[in-house]
Amino acid sequence: SKRDRLDRHLKKVLSISRVETQQLLAKGEIFLDGQRATDIQQLVGEFTQVVVAGRVLQNKLPRYIQLHKPQGVVSATRDDKHQTVIDLIAADFAEQLHLVGRLDFNSTGLVLLTTDGRWSRRLTEPAAGVEKHYRVTLDKPITPEIVEAFERGLYFSFENIITRPVRTAFTDPLCVDIFLHEGRYHQIKRMFGHFQITVLSLHRLAIGNVVLDSELAEGEWRELSQDEVFRSV
Ligand code: URA
Repeated sequence: SKRDRLDRHLKKVLSISRVETQQLLAKGEIFLDGQRATDIQQLVGEFTQVVVAGRVLQNKLPRYIQLHKPQGVVSATRDDKHQTVIDLIAADFAEQLHLVGRLDFNSTGLVLLTTDGRWSRRLTEPAAGVEKHYRVTLDKPITPEIVEAFERGLYFSFENIITRPVRTAFTDPLCVDIFLHEGRYHQIKRMFGHFQITVLSLHRLAIGNVVLDSELAEGEWRELSQDEVFRSV
């Protein structure tokens, strides 16, 4: 596991300088795992309990964020040309976040970001087949034949696979809810493209049990509640 010198650690976690750390040490106000620290070079591990001036520092708490992605923003942590979802998040939260699955450049809606690799793997590993809920608008109406074909699965020649059963729900055949249990490249657009239908807009409403917060405007984000994290899958 990662270890850091005490002065560097406190600079990262508390934004305090080396001199301030030295002063706290001199006053005997820093404890590492219950032992009074004496040296700025002492090593602090990821799970070391650090107490500064009577305060326990919560070292390494994972972060979980939901974001309402606007059109024209890239689902990546870096991009040379365009704004990324990370650019939308406050700098002190953005550090070390990774994406829990992607959403196309022009798609909108729920994007999850986290520092917790185990959580994101549970949500994205193909075997888990976590359901993702999308709402799409179409240039031509969906038909019963297409609904059936989606339920049976379509052949994707590039990957040489049959898509998993996809459930649909709609009252207006030009505005359809889609429930996917996988995430092939441009999957929904390609499935409709198979029937010469163009997807005009694509909006993600949920990933597993995490639902896009209707209070979040495009480009806005918030931390997930503990409940959302624990009930996500
Ligand atoms: N399917 C698509 O075609 N695009 C997305 O962004 C998600 C699913």
